[in-house]
Amino acid sequence: MAKPFMNCNFKNCGAALTKFAWITRCSHVFCDEHGEMFFHKAGAQVRCPACNEVKNRETDLIRNDLNPTDLLISTVRPGKALDFALHACRLWSHQMEYRRRCNTDQVVRKYEGLTLESTVQLQSENKELKNYVQSIEKKLKQTNDELFKIRARLNRYKTAYHACRAFPGTNSNNSAYEQRIQEDRLHSTG
Ligand SMILES: [Zn+2]
Ligand SMILES: [Zn+2]
Repeated sequence: MAKPFMNCNFKNCGAALTKFAWITRCSHVFCDEHGEMFFHKAGAQVRCPACNEVKNRETDLIRNDLNPTDLLISTVRPGKALDFALHACRLWSHQMEYRRRCNTDQVVRKYEGLTLESTVQLQSENKELKNYVQSIEKKLKQTNDELFKIRARLNRYKTAYHACRAFPGTNSNNSAYEQRIQEDRLHSTG
């Protein structure tokens, strides 16, 4: 049996055709399941499910053996045999183009999927990074607040210290200095 080169042209089917196929004059091919679904209807006219062309059931449509004997066209004149060969070439060319399009679509879908996956992953990593930066900023703010408090305390010490040095022995200055230290002690333990 020859390697199959055609797949059912019904959308989302794509079954490899190995034994029999429904073949239309518009060069579309279908598996038995879809051929029977669309062409086994009453009436002389049917529509091709791939291109929507109206077909005459008797002249534009056939269910054929895909591995016919080589004697099949031996009873026709050479001119007719060439006609048959021309139809076979047209069908082959059409199906190659169909397969190429399907492969391209498949590759595009695959890369679109990968792109989407990467975007989702990137967004998730970006969110984690934002959260991390926010936590660092929060810690930095806390550290700055503490630093600000320490500076303020240091300034109070400095002021009290300078007052002591300017008027040594003044009880009020000494006691003010002591009081500051006491306040700060209470503040830091509280
Ligand atoms: Zn099919
Ligand atoms: Zn068609």
